[in-house]
Amino acid sequence: MELGLNGKVAVVTGGGSGIGRATALRLGREGAAVVVADLSAERADAVAAQIIAAGGTALSAAGDASTIDGIDRIATSAENWRGPVTRLCLNAGIGGEGDIRTMSLEDWRKVFAINLESQFLAAQRFLDPMIAAGGGAIATTGSFGAFRSGHPSSTPAYGASKAAVTQLVRHLTARFSAAGVRANCICPGSVETGFGATAVGSGTMVTAPMRAPAGRRAQPEEIGDWMAFLLSDRARHLRGQVILVDGGRTAV
Ligand code: NAD
Repeated sequence: MELGLNGKVAVVTGGGSGIGRATALRLGREGAAVVVADLSAERADAVAAQIIAAGGTALSAAGDASTIDGIDRIATSAENWRGPVTRLCLNAGIGGEGDIRTMSLEDWRKVFAINLESQFLAAQRFLDPMIAAGGGAIATTGSFGAFRSGHPSSTPAYGASKAAVTQLVRHLTARFSAAGVRANCICPGSVETGFGATAVGSGTMVTAPMRAPAGRRAQPEEIGDWMAFLLSDRARHLRGQVILVDGGRTAV
């Protein structure tokens, strides 16, 4: 399917690893000008280099997506490079183990800052230029943890932050659809990434037994493909939707 993303300027937060990396690589193959944004300059550089080596167009932008300065640095790099950003994948996120009695307020705030506030800050920074450029598309990463609490990574801040993320795309749709901005959210189930490595709490995450009807964890590319579709005009009638790509985990 031709996605029509050729030449579109796209930013992917958390683009240096896992789902973000797979999304950036897919967007690169579609001909988009991809800004690989990540806290880790090394990871962002590596993914941008991979896109370029494959014949695509990419820029590495290191920055903390959970801060105003970090988002502004990413956005300014992108705009100076190729003009206004019209495709935005807001994907940076961390997990956390622990329960509500033991989780520190500091860790709670860190999870909310990276999972939720990063999307709020990005929307604030990118919306006006996107609208001025004629509109665009935003795809965010939620989680099945917004709907289920049994997984260690969904307790307690993770699931709460991801539930809030699902509401953000509805707000964006209600307020900015008429201005040409589409926003949708993918909620993956378990995906084979390095996700646990950045968890708050003990610094490790327990991998819950796979209970999805699909019988396996998804590969990051299976989520990246959805992200690219949502960012394409092929999905133009899809607005404010929260799509569970979880191997059926929340269906049973
Ligand atoms: P990952 O750890 O492989 O990749 C996350 C990337 O985000 C890393 O490169 C990290 O450096 C970057 N990052 C972290 N904090 C950042 C910040 N403040 N600013 C910029 N970049 C930052 O993990 P992943 O599994 O690819 O996770 C991506 C998203 O998918 C997250 O939002 C996560 O909650 C969500 N998710 C993952 C799973 C899963 O099973 N892996 C399931 C559901 C949802």
